[in-house]
Amino acid sequence: MPKCEKCGLDVSQDELYEDNGLKVCEDCKISGIKRPETKIKF
Ligand SMILES: [Zn+2]
Repeated sequence: MPKCEKCGLDVSQDELYEDNGLKVCEDCKISGIKRPETKIKF
C-alpha cells in the first residue's frame, strides 16, 4: 500500500494524489490547496 509522502499515512491507490511531485493523501492534497495555519505534528 502506498504512503502519503507528506504525513506518512497509508492510503489506497485510489486515494493517492499528486501535489508538487509528491504522492499525498486526500487530506494533504486539500491542505495544500487551502493552506491552513494549523500544522500537523509528528
Ligand atoms: Zn497525507
